[in-house]
Amino acid sequence: MALIQNSDDRRIVRLGRGGKGSNMSGKKYDIAIIGGGPGGYTAAIRARQLGFTVALIEKQWLGGTCLNIGCIPTKALEKCASLYEEVKNTRQFGINVPEAGFDWTGVQKYKNRCVIRLRKGVESLMKKNEIDVLTGHGTLAGVDSIDVEGVPIFAENIIIATGSRAGSLPTLPVDGVKVLTSDHSLDLKNLPGKLLIVGAGTIGCEFGYIMSSFGVDVTVVEYLERALPMEDEEISAEYGQHLKRRKVKLHVSSSVERIESTDSGVTAHVKPRDGSDEFTVDVDQVLVSVGRAPVTENLGLETLGIPMEKGFVRVDGRLHTGVGNIRAIGDAVGGLMLAHKAAAEGILAVDTIAGKTRKPIVEHNIPRGTYTRPAVASVGLNESEAREQFDGDISVGKYPFSALGKAVIAGEGSGFVKWIAGGQEKKLVGAHVIGVQATELIAIAATAIGAGLTAENFAHIVQAHPTLGEVWTEAAHGLLEGTINY
Ligand code: FAD
Repeated sequence: MALIQNSDDRRIVRLGRGGKGSNMSGKKYDIAIIGGGPGGYTAAIRARQLGFTVALIEKQWLGGTCLNIGCIPTKALEKCASLYEEVKNTRQFGINVPEAGFDWTGVQKYKNRCVIRLRKGVESLMKKNEIDVLTGHGTLAGVDSIDVEGVPIFAENIIIATGSRAGSLPTLPVDGVKVLTSDHSLDLKNLPGKLLIVGAGTIGCEFGYIMSSFGVDVTVVEYLERALPMEDEEISAEYGQHLKRRKVKLHVSSSVERIESTDSGVTAHVKPRDGSDEFTVDVDQVLVSVGRAPVTENLGLETLGIPMEKGFVRVDGRLHTGVGNIRAIGDAVGGLMLAHKAAAEGILAVDTIAGKTRKPIVEHNIPRGTYTRPAVASVGLNESEAREQFDGDISVGKYPFSALGKAVIAGEGSGFVKWIAGGQEKKLVGAHVIGVQATELIAIAATAIGAGLTAENFAHIVQAHPTLGEVWTEAAHGLLEGTINY
């Protein structure tokens, strides 16, 4: 049965065999892509730009996880949360807002509007670029053929872009009512009074921020030693302090051993890893946020002998699986599971098919962000990775937002940035930021690191005043003769 997406909402309207896919039956394309997320649809557009004929097979919704249940809805909710916090804190600017309040249904509507609008945008991009969108589950039928729910199509090249789903733990069975994934948490009809978040990675922290901003009593349990454990240690430590100030209860080095359903919600049994006594947390709902798992089953990968590792498709630096002309990109191949990484891989995969000479993507130079307040972002190596890579020969330049004019004006003086430079020439190899507009500011650092600049190159580039961007210039001076304004 072929499926076609109703563009007004997230429902899928089921069509019979006579549906959209059937008139494509037996058609041959230069490139067929399975999965219409940011990896797949970007690859499709790139392919058309380079003159290929393209089929994009998508079983649920264009835009994939990112647009429908990932980046976009979470950032729309984060916008509402931070706006609410700002409105509550206008007094410092001499602005009196009598009483700030929120309407959760209105917040949900705003989020849904953003998603629908952007999804329509992707749909029209597909039309504009004359991409055949086939709606249905795609399965590899051979090295050059795909079965789309009974409709066969053929392709010279195939790109697997099937993405990921929320990861799970056997001890925390998800029921969508009391025990949730991020998918359910985006569409809550009512806010819980108390929420337990299992996992203090990016997604867990983003929901922790959104929920606590709207008054939910949030507890977070993290198995590793710190919140945002993939970030630079100093940044994580600062973030942990910030969670405390927000009254989010954070238990690190601990695991949720089991949960029991109660009349009013859930009792979670938490075990600290240092051997101290197990304790319980009573909440209304639990959000399990323990990473993402690849969507690679029922695709025919094993039949074709495509190499796999822990469910992820194994590819080389140019995203080739080593079988026929089959490539794979995005979350399905693992590594950094981010939308912009998926999109960049989509472009690289198609460029490679076109015979363009392209360097492999340097994964650690892809920027990462946590969209909370304060926000956190990073690119390149963290301090301990750099220390190891450069045999200890590194320099660290820091600058606090409390000393930066534009941040003070914005009433956002907390947090800092940190450059890490390697070797005697002080090449910029890592950048970390916690504080105002961190996820925007990281673009400057990513550009500098991507361009291979040294601290001296960067310090001599003049930034406008007063801007947040000056923070990097100051920190770069900190790597040389010293910061100017601190
Ligand atoms: P996906 O976006 O997962 O798309 C895969 C598509 O393939 C899906 O539409 C699926 O329906 C389709 N599909 C799967 N199997 C088949 C099949 N057999 N046949 C046909 N279609 C199929 N990343 C960021 O960069 N920034 C963020 O702020 C961010 N926030 C996030 C917040 C949350 C809550 C979540 C869950 C994720 C977030 N991400 C973020 C991660 C980001 O969403 C993913 O990295 C990105 O969507 C991966 O893109 P992709 O194209 O590889 O796969």
